[in-house]
Amino acid sequence: MLNQATNTNHNYYVPGMSSEYVAQRYGIAVADIAKLGSAENPHGASPKARAAVSATIDRLHLYPSWTAEPLREKIAATYNYQPEQIICGAGETELISLIIRAFSEPGGKILMPGPCFPIYHLFAEAEGRVAVLAHEATDRASMALDVDTYIAAIDDNTRIVFVTNPHSPSGTWLNESDLRRITEAAPHALVVLDEAYVHYSNTVGYLHLPQEYPHLMVLRTFSKAFGLAGLRIGFGVAERTVINALLAVKPTWNLGQMQIAGGVAALDDHEHVAWTVSTILDSKQYVSTRFRELDRFRMVPESRSNFFLVEILDPDTNSTEVFNGLLERGVIVKDGMDSWRGLSDRFLRCDVNHRHLMDQLVDALADLE
Ligand SMILES: *Cc1c(COP(=O)(O)O)cnc(C)c1O
Repeated sequence: MLNQATNTNHNYYVPGMSSEYVAQRYGIAVADIAKLGSAENPHGASPKARAAVSATIDRLHLYPSWTAEPLREKIAATYNYQPEQIICGAGETELISLIIRAFSEPGGKILMPGPCFPIYHLFAEAEGRVAVLAHEATDRASMALDVDTYIAAIDDNTRIVFVTNPHSPSGTWLNESDLRRITEAAPHALVVLDEAYVHYSNTVGYLHLPQEYPHLMVLRTFSKAFGLAGLRIGFGVAERTVINALLAVKPTWNLGQMQIAGGVAALDDHEHVAWTVSTILDSKQYVSTRFRELDRFRMVPESRSNFFLVEILDPDTNSTEVFNGLLERGVIVKDGMDSWRGLSDRFLRCDVNHRHLMDQLVDALADLE
């Protein structure tokens, strides 16, 4: 059974809860659960990817290309790189573990914002590396990263610098000039820009920057806007020497026939991505209006992603109490204190999804004692 240990107690990733678990525990129909803790796609998987995955069924006895070559070529052609500048992984998650192994030694420092995607520090520490979380937010109101503080935390022993844009859990955006400042402050390290949520920012992101900086790698995933979290595909773009170092530690056949075919097809599914992004932006606008009805909670502004932080204004409760109260009402979010190192018990992270699920969230918050 899933437990609700605090984040100092576990050294593995605790994903958002499943609808089935909450339905069973609280005696609620699965269809009535608002699943707002895993940032999944409200419209499901890309239809083009679904069709391509089905068509692989006759090729399952064949080993796939160990570099996922058809997908690598498609990504390279789409974003104006050479295939040798691309690596594919079983989600970004696998690539993050390879990066930590290839670009830092035991005891080496890995810099990341606090709070950040827990996978960065969990893998760093599992491999005996030192995770350095730089905690300051410039603007307490929006929780944006303080770039000067972040740069000041880079030193000679820093091997990897993680940047997430839009950031998670805040959803805040980093300007290109700030990303360049961070990158230029760490020429001796590998700077890893995680663009998992870039589609929701309605920009093309910074995938062009590895052309200029040989020590900058950009990561993207098919788990979010393409709706393929269950298929497990991600990729990284960097200079060839960086990619070669990662290929040397990559489990040989890390992607199967289904992932390769699904990824190739998804990259052409502009319609699905556009529909998803427009639904998210519409619902985000809608839920921000509805939050004005609440006085014990505040929607932290400026999220450019498909989730946002909720700040608890009432000093007599905390994120775990609110999280449990929402679960009883069939609403799954993420408990800030439990899910992120460096985030206090004043915060929860909630996904943006269909409008009726936003209503369910706001109504449940209003209903809490
Ligand atoms: C969801 C997410 C990812 C994607 O992980 P996958 O392994 O590709 O599913 C990467 N980074 C962040 C910050 C995320 O929240």
